Amino acid sequence: MRLFTIGPVEMFDEIKDVRKRGDAVPYFRTPEFSDMMLETDRLLRKFAKTGDSSRTIYLTASGTAAMEAAVLNCFTQEDRLLVIDGGTFGHRFVEICKIHGIPHDVITLDFGETLAKKHFEAASHKAYTALLVNVDETSTGQLYDMALISDFCKNKGMYLVADAISSFLCDEFDMDGYGVDVMIASSQKGPCVSPGMSVALLSERILKERVMKSAFSSLYFDFKSYLENFKRGQTPFTPAVGICVELNAALRMIDRIGLEQHLSNIETIAKDFRSKLLDLPVSIPSYPLSNAVTPVIFDEPIAYRVFEYLKDRYGIYVNPTGGKLGETTFRVAHIGKITTEDNSILISRIKEGIGAVKSK
Ligand SMILES: *Cc1c(COP(=O)(O)O)cnc(C)c1O
Repeated sequence: MRLFTIGPVEMFDEIKDVRKRGDAVPYFRTPEFSDMMLETDRLLRKFAKTGDSSRTIYLTASGTAAMEAAVLNCFTQEDRLLVIDGGTFGHRFVEICKIHGIPHDVITLDFGETLAKKHFEAASHKAYTALLVNVDETSTGQLYDMALISDFCKNKGMYLVADAISSFLCDEFDMDGYGVDVMIASSQKGPCVSPGMSVALLSERILKERVMKSAFSSLYFDFKSYLENFKRGQTPFTPAVGICVELNAALRMIDRIGLEQHLSNIETIAKDFRSKLLDLPVSIPSYPLSNAVTPVIFDEPIAYRVFEYLKDRYGIYVNPTGGKLGETTFRVAHIGKITTEDNSILISRIKEGIGAVKSK
């Protein structure tokens, strides 16, 4: 099996080795586990470029739970939010607002459209509490212009919630520089470890003004109990202990390589793949792309059948795309243990798959 998917990803050997060690899932109500979590937290905040006053919530749940919990711990039906809906994950924020009756307006992008200043014109005359955005809209691979979004929010005094699940540790990010109040990450994407843990990193501002004053009632998802417990490196409930160990190993590995070098390695793999695609009867979008993933657009509606060919014939997995784009596009990830040689093999298999599917 070979994964070119965006989460789970093809894990680095170093992380797989951590999992193979007999002692990989320790008992966790110990000072040793707490120390490991506090180290994880120090590295996470270092890589997100945020200071000592921000705080992290470690949830045992998939990324969507962190998105929903962040919205519920920060906002109420008294707020008005602005949501950028440029694909599946932006749409998920819209659904969260709808389900919980939180007033919101939506900036909707068509497939292929680049988020630009003009999209904010209508919203610039209205008052909003916060903006919700996915830094990389993973369903399309668009890497949004965070400087543009950040300026808009700063000018209007809005909170900024950035779901960086597929972008954190793949693209440059600067939480404090962009004035991000909530950054969301999830174990199986950017950090390239197993699925099951998600984090919400909170700015001092939103902690003081919103989270600590929130009347949100929930046993499992109330951030206040997570904040209290994490003062000593613990979570209120049993975390996915094995994934906490993997996450710590992944962040230590990145720290050893250096964040800039790590990002540059991913960029090299992404650029290599995109240049090799020129040999195939496919195209890629013209909007800015995250280093994490490339949507491959076919001339004909054969993407899903080529995906099946790669899977069934070679055990190679790419990401099929959901919805109406599914027939014409699939996505290829560039994170985790992937080399330029792997890219060459994938390209030749895709070429073969296109031939096989078309000759049927
Ligand atoms: C994967 C992803 C999520 C969350 O997905 P889960 O399946 O709940 O982990 C949210 N936002 C983005 C941008 C993602 O890529």
